[in-house]
Parts: sequence; structure tokens; C-alpha cells
Amino acid sequence: MATLEYDVQNCPNCGNIFRKTTWPVCQDCKNEMENELSKCTEFIRRNRQTTMSQLVEQTGVSEINITKYIRDGKINISDVPNLSYPCDLCESSIRKGNLCVKCRMKINTDIDKMKRNEQEDREKLAKENRASFIIQDRFNKK
Ligand SMILES: [Zn+2]
Ligand SMILES: [Zn+2]
Repeated sequence: MATLEYDVQNCPNCGNIFRKTTWPVCQDCKNEMENELSKCTEFIRRNRQTTMSQLVEQTGVSEINITKYIRDGKINISDVPNLSYPCDLCESSIRKGNLCVKCRMKINTDIDKMKRNEQEDREKLAKENRASFIIQDRFNKK
């Protein structure tokens, strides 16, 4: 089998094989991303009141990509009050992360519940182990 001289990977965006750099995508996609990003930031700079649909329409960049850029912190929307994207779970408008406050809270509660269940399971298991120890102990003494 041939050894690869370079650390290469498949571009998650277009599937091309490329040499790994600090960017997670290939050079072509990186250029495309930078191009899209500068179009977006330029438009936002001049239209602070823009909404997502206006931004998509005016820049030709897809909403999926814009959302990705905002989530990655590549597009700063802190002073663009009308720009938002849908929550991953319930589709209500959000401006940060993947989930709205409600869904985040729900997931946190679910995680808490899971942790509690885990804790209970562990305690139960520990108790069972102790019980079997005692039984073994008695068995060994005989
Ligand atoms: Zn690519
Ligand atoms: Zn939500």
C-alpha cells in the first residue's frame, strides 16, 4: 500500500481530497466561503436592519451557509437586530448557538434527569455489589 506523503482529507463541503490546513475545507471551498463571507459582512455593514431573507436575496448566499457563519462566529450579528435563524428543534428565531432558550432549557432538564437516573443506577448497582459481597463473604467463611 502506498504511504501518503501528506496529511490529506476529504473536503466536507465538495468531497475533493485536499491537504490539511488550518481550514476544515479545501482551498476552492475556502475561497468560496471567504467570498460569501465578505459579501454578507459587506451587505450587513450597509444594512443594519437586514433580515435573513433580505440577506439571502441580496447576497445569493444560502440561508444554511449564513446560519453556519453566524454560529461559527464568522458573521457578527450583535448589532443587526433583525437577523436571526431558526432553532434546530422548534424553528423559533434565535441569534446564537443551535437552540432557542426554551429548547436549551428542555435539553438541560433532560440531561439533568439522565444524570439523576445514572446516579440512581450507580447507587443501586453499588448496593447490589455490596449485597453480593456480603453473600460471598458468608460463603467464604463456611
Ligand atoms: Zn471543497
Ligand atoms: Zn427551540
